[in-house]
Amino acid sequence: MTEQKTVYLADYQPYTHLVDSVDLTFRLAPSATRVSARLSLRPNPERPGRNDLRLDGEGLTLVSCAVDGKAVTPTVEPDALTLAAKDLPDGPFTLETEVEIAPEANTALEGLYMSKGMYCTQCEAEGFRKITYYPDRPDVMSRFKVRIESDLPILLSNGNPTAQGPGFAEWDDPWPKPAYLFALVAGDLRAHSAKFTTASERPVDLNIWVRPGDEDRCAYAMDSLIRSMRWDEQVYGREYDLDVFNIVAVDDFNMGAMENKGLNIFNSRYVLASPETATDDDYYRIEAIIAHEYFHNWTGNRITCRDWFQLCLKEGLTVFRDHQFSGDMRSAAVRRIEDVVTLRSRQFREDDGPLAHPVRPESFIEINNFYTATVYEKGAEVIGMLKSLVGDGAYKRALDLYFDRHDGDAATIEDWLKVFEDTTDRDLSQFKLWYSQAGTPRLKVDEAWDDGVYTLTFAQANPPTPGQPEKQPKVIPIKVALLNPNGDEVVPTIMLEMTREKQSFRFEGLAAKPVPSILRGFSAPVVLDRKPAPGERAFLLAHDTDPFNKWEAGRALAKEVMSEIALKGTPVRSDWLDALAAVTFDDTLDPAFRALCLRLPGEDDIAQTIHAMGRIPDPAKIHAARREMAGALAIRLGDGLSRLYKDLDDNAPFSPSASQAGRRALKVAALQLLTRRDGGKLAASAFARARSMTEEIGALAALLEVHQGQAELTSFAARWGRDANVMDKWYALQITTAEPGDAAALADRLIQTPGFDWKNPNRFRTVIGALAANHAAFHHRSGAGYRLVADWLLKLDPLNPQTAARVSTAFETWPRYDASRRKRAKKELERMLAAPDLSGDLREMVERMLAAG
Ligand SMILES: [Zn+2]
Repeated sequence: MTEQKTVYLADYQPYTHLVDSVDLTFRLAPSATRVSARLSLRPNPERPGRNDLRLDGEGLTLVSCAVDGKAVTPTVEPDALTLAAKDLPDGPFTLETEVEIAPEANTALEGLYMSKGMYCTQCEAEGFRKITYYPDRPDVMSRFKVRIESDLPILLSNGNPTAQGPGFAEWDDPWPKPAYLFALVAGDLRAHSAKFTTASERPVDLNIWVRPGDEDRCAYAMDSLIRSMRWDEQVYGREYDLDVFNIVAVDDFNMGAMENKGLNIFNSRYVLASPETATDDDYYRIEAIIAHEYFHNWTGNRITCRDWFQLCLKEGLTVFRDHQFSGDMRSAAVRRIEDVVTLRSRQFREDDGPLAHPVRPESFIEINNFYTATVYEKGAEVIGMLKSLVGDGAYKRALDLYFDRHDGDAATIEDWLKVFEDTTDRDLSQFKLWYSQAGTPRLKVDEAWDDGVYTLTFAQANPPTPGQPEKQPKVIPIKVALLNPNGDEVVPTIMLEMTREKQSFRFEGLAAKPVPSILRGFSAPVVLDRKPAPGERAFLLAHDTDPFNKWEAGRALAKEVMSEIALKGTPVRSDWLDALAAVTFDDTLDPAFRALCLRLPGEDDIAQTIHAMGRIPDPAKIHAARREMAGALAIRLGDGLSRLYKDLDDNAPFSPSASQAGRRALKVAALQLLTRRDGGKLAASAFARARSMTEEIGALAALLEVHQGQAELTSFAARWGRDANVMDKWYALQITTAEPGDAAALADRLIQTPGFDWKNPNRFRTVIGALAANHAAFHHRSGAGYRLVADWLLKLDPLNPQTAARVSTAFETWPRYDASRRKRAKKELERMLAAPDLSGDLREMVERMLAAG
């Protein structure tokens, strides 16, 4: 076990040396790749005096080391190579090293590794140190030249190609970059190619590289890339800056994708799509992730982070930008709702438990553990609030200043906020608390009506989180409108700026007591705590002109009903059923919006709601409540549901467009409800004649939910057995629809199938991750869910600690539940902690989770 060291933001110091250029030569071989590095170095004037040169390096076999051409003997430790100051020139010098590494033995998928015969890299956050000795930190930016020697036909790296011939290729990246953006790919690949011309007329060759046979499934990814490039020019004035942009699809990848300069590497599931193999959700994700990684070229690559504490600087901003892009490409209202659903289910959950941390953490042990919903999703929400507070015009001016002022820099959150302060003359010191204080604020709302004057009083509570018992009030932008009792808007959307712990806002000259529509568009990531008047939610679901709040009214009502059933065993309330029926059959509403309204809140979300009420959630009762609501809804919607299904079941040729996707979503939602009434007849025929993966998997899910579909499962596997990305759906769906008491045993059976390659992160997630995400199954009172997940985390950890640590967050909610479940969960966490040679990644997570109780 390597010793665990905590790193603190407050300890930051610039690096001792500057690296003016890097020349790398790779002689690729699966078990013995040679990496030669030639670094042009000089002392950093910001670190006066004579300093040792310490380079990061892990798992490297040093072959040779020379300074200015003369062999030297450095001090080599397991994580570093050091040359003493006295042995170094007091000015510029050249350091040459040669190391040997074994990509085929690299199962952690960090650094240089192999995936099905192809070489690829993943260097963020600290993977480059597994390739060669180097100052592996984001504030050391340098120009990289790369030569690759290999018999494989396609040899790629960052930047522009400069030479190639039999057995070699050379690349030159003119833009200085940190090592985490380095990439190399070598393999037998085929390109799907296109051309792009930038606004200033630079021609760019675009290539998406895939394994032979997959070329015809790249068209949507390419189309998404071209639209992203155009959008970034039009909306942010940012152009692409190289002659070539390459994307490579890889099957074995720890995350979604990586924005390496000019050479993005993608998990193949976020590149490959055809109507038969990809769902509408897959299409949406491909578009969003292609855009996200492309947008990093400016927000992340040209302007990078000074240190890893600033991760939200690039991720929060880039997520915000990709949300904006998706909103422009699709229905902005539907995208906003989906983004908030994700935020609540992942980030609010994180904020509510032992893993809560600020958007900009102040210390960490393993940075890989901070690629979290808080850094990404809440990081994006913080930027959305900033934009609301300063206004669209000032936001644009501030961003222009940010790009002008910091191009080529390794920047900080302070730099980011300063451009807003300089543009607007606003003091953002209170706003900055959003970056330093963890936890989701709760906003209590009271109202008063007195002789034509309506007063809204807000009180904010910032709950304690690990290491932060006391907090100060935050700036909260609250977008509000007021509606007349007849549904007309009497006060259109205005933004209230809350800065104190408790604050009142008055509205005068109203003829009747209005109904407030509070937190329109979800203008701040907070929990609203308000007891609405009876019937108010149904009223807002019917009348609110803000699509987010319209949906939110129905959502809040559904959550209230589900919590009541789970806690008190009450029957399904008719006001919810009636209100939802009205929305479902309202043809003036976007089908995608109606499908969203029909989607019941998740069980984990209800557990969180019940926990926030100070009660103990019972996963089995929540599961039963959700099922009861779906059954009652299927009956309440009656024959109209069959008519709706028939109307949507058209023969239009497939398009991945948002409007068609919305119709399919509503059609599948209708089918799933109808299946609860007819026992599966319609779903079986829908499965047989499905013309897209959305319909095929939707029909299969409908069948599995009513314990049918075994024959369909078999035929699905026979049809798609060779397609790993499609089979991931087959595995995951069985686990997500399994009865809570059977899911762990089913997962065990699926693990025995020959297709279960647990070393592949996608497949591991589709079985173990799906079990962990099935709330009632993971928290089953037998403890079987906890046990199986812990077993597999322990098995995966020695090979791939990063993925093991991420999946382990399934346990983060354990303190919420009853004593018996807590005991079982804690036992598994303790068992993991006691394992010999537990990785630093998983150890840090388990220790943080155990600290909660
Ligand atoms: Zn990113």
